[in-house]
Amino acid sequence: MRFDTVIIGAGLSGLAAGIRLAHFGRRVCLCERHTRIGGLNSWYERGGRRFDVGLHALTNLAPRQRREAPINRLFRQLRLSRDELHIVPQRHSRIVFPGCSLRFSNDFAVLEASVAEAFPAQHEAFQRLVAAVRDYDVYSYHLEPLPARKTLAAILSDPLLIEMLLCPVMYYGNAQADDMDFRAFCILFRSLFLEGVGRPAGGIRPLLDALAARLAEAGAELRLNCGVRTIACPDGAVTGVSLDDGTFLECDSILSSAGHLETLRLCDPAPASATTHPAGCISFIESIFHLDCPPADLGLDDSILFLNRTPEFAYRPPAALADAQSTVLCLPGNFGGGETVAGADLLRVTSLANPQPWLHLPADEYRVAKAEAAAAQLDGIADIAPLAGHARLADVFTPRTVLRYTGHLNGAVYGSPRKLYDGRTPIRNLFLCGTDQGFLGIVGALLSGVSMANYHLLAKA
Ligand SMILES: Cc1cc2nc3c(=O)[nH]c(=O)nc-3n(C[C@H](O)[C@H](O)[C@H](O)COP(=O)(O)OP(=O)(O)OC[C@H]3O[C@@H](n4cnc5c(N)ncnc54)[C@H](O)[C@@H]3O)c2cc1C
Repeated sequence: MRFDTVIIGAGLSGLAAGIRLAHFGRRVCLCERHTRIGGLNSWYERGGRRFDVGLHALTNLAPRQRREAPINRLFRQLRLSRDELHIVPQRHSRIVFPGCSLRFSNDFAVLEASVAEAFPAQHEAFQRLVAAVRDYDVYSYHLEPLPARKTLAAILSDPLLIEMLLCPVMYYGNAQADDMDFRAFCILFRSLFLEGVGRPAGGIRPLLDALAARLAEAGAELRLNCGVRTIACPDGAVTGVSLDDGTFLECDSILSSAGHLETLRLCDPAPASATTHPAGCISFIESIFHLDCPPADLGLDDSILFLNRTPEFAYRPPAALADAQSTVLCLPGNFGGGETVAGADLLRVTSLANPQPWLHLPADEYRVAKAEAAAAQLDGIADIAPLAGHARLADVFTPRTVLRYTGHLNGAVYGSPRKLYDGRTPIRNLFLCGTDQGFLGIVGALLSGVSMANYHLLAKA
């Protein structure tokens, strides 16, 4: 019952940290409250078929030859093979605002050409922005936050271009309402536009199966259905964890992927910042529809479509249950070049949601609200995607689902707006990985687990 490290959560960051530590001979125990691994990026079965919980796309899809690209470094460190996952690239995607559209693919020249065509006066400024993004030291543990909107406005003079670039970047990993840290902007811009996106042909499960296999081979212990109820830290240092079933596990250190505030609230005694650190408020609803024909037959040929109905992109909780002005459409059937892709007959439609009403609706009203929100999403995209009679609702994912699968306060998809890039907490041997450390998304979460294990628990040994 004594471990070198207890890891809280077997989402992608916890799994990656567990593999890394166990590879180096550490005695590791992963405690996961749910009966399945994966956290926000897991899968479930309904009506006899498998659905991914939250998979639009795997970002950071740099070519294999770029050995130092994050995805390639990560796969080596976790001993994963890209062939094993069979990742199929996007074909092309679009950002559509009133009167203007930008196209991008995994060839960055496509976005460059699209910006040059739609915003000819911004061509050189856009090149300067790209250079600034490439040069920014995103992995430094000692950077002060820098507001992205102000930084972008100092380089680009066309407000519409700024809004259009922020839209996909914010949707795919910003925890802050209205603005974001320029470091997070750089991480996401690189991972989406400079490196590219794809989908594992078999959905998320083959990746989770591969991670579980590496974890077992490395000798880490994985306990499912095993919530951590409290973290014992009597003198400002961790001594162990009490589990929901009353068991106590002694350990020398803890790596938690449960979120910053959520982790501090488990501590006994709780540090002062357990009441002052800001909780997140950004959440989504995502409706999954079955299509009765290939999306291209309905005029939908993008892999991902970011749609915003106003010249300004309002990235904040809407007053209503869900935002009618902005949606992201993901079409798994439009990835790859004709290979069999899991979920190819599905359409995923994501919109910003106001977490509070979703979290408090009584069960019967919740069911009705989900169906109405999904119908409103289809109505809202009817001019771009005339799906009437072709789309059948399969499921709706809300802030309540995020809370249930992750324990994130407010069902905040990307956790707290204040990230702790060095993973340190006020407790000496308690560190964070995952969402609130600040590297987001599938590849980001894996990278976070590996880098926090390396930095805090392996480098000093
Ligand atoms: C709708 C949606 C779509 C998304 N789509 C994409 C996408 O297409 N591509 C992409 O790259 N990213 C996507 N993401 C983001 C991505 O899912 C997350 O950034 C990533 O999965 C976070 O991993 P994590 O390990 O940090 O945390 P989590 O997945 O939140 O894992 C934390 C784990 O800790 C467990 N836990 C919490 N508290 C305790 C406790 N007390 N005891 C034990 N266990 C506990 C939870 O049960 C959970 O399993 C999406 C997210 C959402 C919500």
